[in-house]
Amino acid sequence: MPLQEYRAQRNFDETREPSGKDRGQRLPTEPIFVIQEHHASHLHYDFRLESDGVLKSWAVPKEPTLDPTVKRLAIQVEDHPLDYATFEGTIPRGQYGAGTVTIWDHGTFESPSGQEPALPSVSEAIDAGHIEFVLHGKKLQGKFVLIRMKDRAKARPQWLLIKMKDEFAQASPSNPGAHSRGRTQPKLPQEAPKASTST
Ligand code: MN
Repeated sequence: MPLQEYRAQRNFDETREPSGKDRGQRLPTEPIFVIQEHHASHLHYDFRLESDGVLKSWAVPKEPTLDPTVKRLAIQVEDHPLDYATFEGTIPRGQYGAGTVTIWDHGTFESPSGQEPALPSVSEAIDAGHIEFVLHGKKLQGKFVLIRMKDRAKARPQWLLIKMKDEFAQASPSNPGAHSRGRTQPKLPQEAPKASTST
């Protein structure tokens, strides 16, 4: 049963999070994504992609970025109901994930075009451990990839969220050297001192 884990963790008499009992009305558009900034015991960003009527979900401990040189850890967590995409508010103290949730970015996504044979669905790509997608959000746009890391010993599968190089890629402010064009620094004369090694 989908969402079983999600429901088991929450008391819907206490939290205003959606129970997922009513399947959200979906207009026939591109599938959606949402990133929710979640001030729980540790600040993280919940990255969610629509697939098969639920939101496949990853907790990203650091803010997602358009910098292709940065790999963000993304820990796969339980599927969330589609309704969760619009949830903002405070999960009460003592409840699972207690803390405030705000929407950091949202929009639609699609598979990268022009690839043959046809790309797998999101759920097939999750099984394969490699998902490529193009985000159409406000903060995040362009091609991204999620790659599952090999360590299966962890209770929660660990992935890397990485921006792929395209016209939307940009260096993050904290990483200014990442896109400096070419290394044009003059080479310093390398006169290795042939001093006799004195001991
Ligand atoms: Mn969370």
